[in-house]
Amino acid sequence: MKYSNFFLPTLKDVPSDAEIISHKLMIRAGMIKQSSSGIYSWLPLGLLVLKKIEHIVREEQNRAGAIELLMPTIQSSDLWIKSGRYDDYGKEMLRITDRSGREMLYGPTNEELITDIFQSHISSYKDLPKNLYHIQWKFRDEVRPRFGVMRGREFLMKDNYSFDLNEEEAKKSYDIMFKAYIKTFIRMGLTPISLRAETGPIGGNLSHEFQILAKTGESTLYYDKKLESLNPENIDPNELQSFYAAVDDQHDEKNCPIQKKDLKISKGIEVGHIFYFGTKYSEKLNAYIQDQDGKNIPVHMGSYGIGVSRLVGAIIEANHDEKGIQWPTSVAPFKLAIINLMSDDQDCATKSMEYYDYFMKNEIEVILDDRICSVGKKLSDNELIGIPFQIIIGKRDLKNGFVEFKNRLNNKVEKIKVDDVTNFINNKLKI
Ligand code: ATP
Ligand code: MG
Repeated sequence: MKYSNFFLPTLKDVPSDAEIISHKLMIRAGMIKQSSSGIYSWLPLGLLVLKKIEHIVREEQNRAGAIELLMPTIQSSDLWIKSGRYDDYGKEMLRITDRSGREMLYGPTNEELITDIFQSHISSYKDLPKNLYHIQWKFRDEVRPRFGVMRGREFLMKDNYSFDLNEEEAKKSYDIMFKAYIKTFIRMGLTPISLRAETGPIGGNLSHEFQILAKTGESTLYYDKKLESLNPENIDPNELQSFYAAVDDQHDEKNCPIQKKDLKISKGIEVGHIFYFGTKYSEKLNAYIQDQDGKNIPVHMGSYGIGVSRLVGAIIEANHDEKGIQWPTSVAPFKLAIINLMSDDQDCATKSMEYYDYFMKNEIEVILDDRICSVGKKLSDNELIGIPFQIIIGKRDLKNGFVEFKNRLNNKVEKIKVDDVTNFINNKLKI
């Protein structure tokens, strides 16, 4: 991508209503534009990151055996009346009346709809277990939409639903998702902390939330330090669930079961929440299956959510400095930026194009900053948008046969011989 062709409207000034750093940086980096309270347009740079996150979430869901489908955003009120949640959900639910006077709603979650799909097609224990998911926009008319995409009214969520014969099998499905969640967040360069949680209005008796560590997080977490250094290839959900972890209002220093030296205290942001709620919805929505003895029993269910759009903000909260974003490579909108500081210099332009063509041909996600603007603006915009690897081409260095390489993750800069650049970057990107 050439910067001059792209649409990347960076801003110098911080919008006055943006309270937290990720919100400020997302607006300044031209990633989102507010359309109304808690509702945003995703501009090209923001969309690239959203898609990267979505892709990782999808891959880990598929690996864990979950099956993707797509349910609509607009739902009829019928199923919600049956489940009893039409009234319970209150003002958070956006209700709409269609031209025939039918009561419709913009889905805040999908337990009702998926249970109905399940019960229409599955009636035997032989078809279990099943785990179905979708990645779809949700709407919740939050009392206080704030912090940009972190608490929006319209937001993208991955939600899935597991169906099992009994509680024991359902716990297995729960643990498979638990493991997939830890892997998903680690792949995004985050440190996930899993905590036992309240089930709230969803119901049931088993629930965990997943918080990621960020200095600017809203919750204070108290947890066993072992939770900070997990090996994603070797996750034992039962072991992890036995480690101590609590948010501040649950933590009681006197009754804390672990020693002070093993206790860590950090700030966190909730990015995922999982529930086992048994037969609450299957009973109400008639999702019965025949067991091995020919008896009809309600199916056991769990539901699992990841805030895909919230993750964009959360990743920035966890990865930024005073100059801008520092994208972990797995979710970066581009892996490499080629920054030509002297667009009007023939040699600089030729060299930048040469590198750009090479990396494009090799299918590296690269952006070429070919804009005609001041050196200061180029450097500060590129610090702001935070592409992890940057090649900076200046007139004097080039004359001496060098360009600069900057690693935005640690801000180290080194000079590289012009002929070594492609190998050097290939090595960094391991191709
Ligand atoms: P919260 O306590 O933050 O309101 P929740 O318990 O209502 O979250 P769930 O219904 O479990 O959330 O939704 C699953 C995930 O969706 C959450 O972990 C969060 O990452 C994301 N999420 C929930 N509400 C919002 C929102 N208003 N804006 C952005 N993401 C959200
Ligand atoms: Mg909520």
